[in-house]
Amino acid sequence: ATTATRAAAAAWPTVPDATGPAAEQAVLDRVPTGLLIDGTWRSAADDATFPVVDPATGETLLRVADATPEDGVRALAAADAARAGWARTAPRQRAEVLRRAFDLLQDRREDFALLMTLEMGKPLAEARGEVAYGGEFLRWFSEEAVRIGGSYSTNPEGTGRAVVTHKPVGPAFLITPWNFPLAMATRKIAPALAAGCTVVVKPAELTPLTTLLFADLLLEAGVPAGVVNVVPTTSAAALSEPVIGDPRLRKLSFTGSTPVGRTLLRQAAGTVLRTSMELGGNAPFLVFEDADLELAVEGALLAKFRNTGQACTAANRFLVHEDVAEEFARRITERVAAMPVGRGTEDGIAIGPLIDSRAVDKAHRLVTDALHRGATLRTGGHPVDGSGTFYAPTVLTDVQPGSDLLRDEIFGPVLAIRTFRTEDEAVTAANDTEYGLVGYAFTEDPARGQRLMERLETGMLGLNTGVVSNASAPFGGVKQSGLGREGGGEGIAEYLETMYTLTPDP
Ligand code: NAD
Repeated sequence: ATTATRAAAAAWPTVPDATGPAAEQAVLDRVPTGLLIDGTWRSAADDATFPVVDPATGETLLRVADATPEDGVRALAAADAARAGWARTAPRQRAEVLRRAFDLLQDRREDFALLMTLEMGKPLAEARGEVAYGGEFLRWFSEEAVRIGGSYSTNPEGTGRAVVTHKPVGPAFLITPWNFPLAMATRKIAPALAAGCTVVVKPAELTPLTTLLFADLLLEAGVPAGVVNVVPTTSAAALSEPVIGDPRLRKLSFTGSTPVGRTLLRQAAGTVLRTSMELGGNAPFLVFEDADLELAVEGALLAKFRNTGQACTAANRFLVHEDVAEEFARRITERVAAMPVGRGTEDGIAIGPLIDSRAVDKAHRLVTDALHRGATLRTGGHPVDGSGTFYAPTVLTDVQPGSDLLRDEIFGPVLAIRTFRTEDEAVTAANDTEYGLVGYAFTEDPARGQRLMERLETGMLGLNTGVVSNASAPFGGVKQSGLGREGGGEGIAEYLETMYTLTPDP
């Protein structure tokens, strides 16, 4: 089944001009628009389709098949039928399929970057960054596939031998969000396949195109029929419920908002289904009086404005020591006010559109609330006129306790600053949230850094850096930011079952 070659990749048509209308049409022409079930692209059971829209222009890019609940169950049946065969393949074979997928993705990185910019809106330079980041999960888990270990030991009494082995958990249902269309898919698919699991992927309905193009690449890389199935749908809840309730399903991995995560956990309880949950965040960004302010400003720009603020890791609350708060605010406002806003395909754009008009309304509601409660507007603070769903990059200072944006995920280009006086006050404020995904802290004092590692209630910490994501590291949150980890050695463990065998003393 592993017949794809590098020669086939070389024959792939190259994009002549990465940003013109011809290049856009060329990449759209390559996207399969059906459902992928049992190795075949097909239409939905009722032939329905739905439009995928460019958020920068409001125009429809493509229509894709709209899976019904019946299609979801058929996809699970295909994953279940392929389960035993894929679990039996040699780890080296699974590793090589993933490595080929990595290589093919490198060859086609411009296509994937452009497609993500078209359907999701992120600036092209960031989309290229996501191709690099998302691709690393394929490479990392191709390397992990051959290192699934176990153990052999004598029990403490000396009366028996314990053998511990790991085996694939079985068919997995993978639900992804729209904000990182490629990386959220590879971060789940790669460890699942490496572990020997088959999958049903339900991409976000706002951005299914990247997943569809990627699934086609996986087939070319040699993934056998039924091992990866893809069911885009506008009926996420209706499709998911019977799949989650089906005893053939053995694992649910979800990335998305905390409220939907809670609903899915309740459904998963029915069959005591194993789950991984990558949920929302409300990241604190701490700047201490001893911070390197230039470094903190650069870190803040990345932690806040990457993906136009639409990241679970986005810094949501800036807590700055009162001695440096005005200087930090002055420097960051100067940079933010100069950020070019526009369609992500244009040169030099830093801020793309938000995903839809609801996202613009939410950002504006949060800003308006903060201003009513006494915050000061330093720049931005309004939607941008014209086609597309843009919000001006915004800086607020003097944000008052009780403001909604201190509690809710902003998910937009709005940087909100409060001040603190002592380290204790900063830590208490940072932990004052139901979320616990990531925190950022800027300080030149190593002892303080160490204290923060121990005291911050987050799954991840960026110490003097504004980006923590890396395929080799365990990504995930505590509290209501989720359960489990993606990436690192922990990432493949999410798709493995542990079995222990005891034999008597020989
Ligand atoms: P969302 O929860 O609305 O949707 C996520 C996915 O779940 C989509 O595919 C959607 O179709 C599906 N979905 C929605 N309702 C469902 C239901 N009842 N049953 C089954 N599936 C359902 O989130 P979103 O708006 O797509 O993404 C943004 C959210 O994702 C933010 O909260 C962000 O913090 C979070 N996120 C978390 C991480 C992480 O790693 N922790 C990464 C990226 C995004």
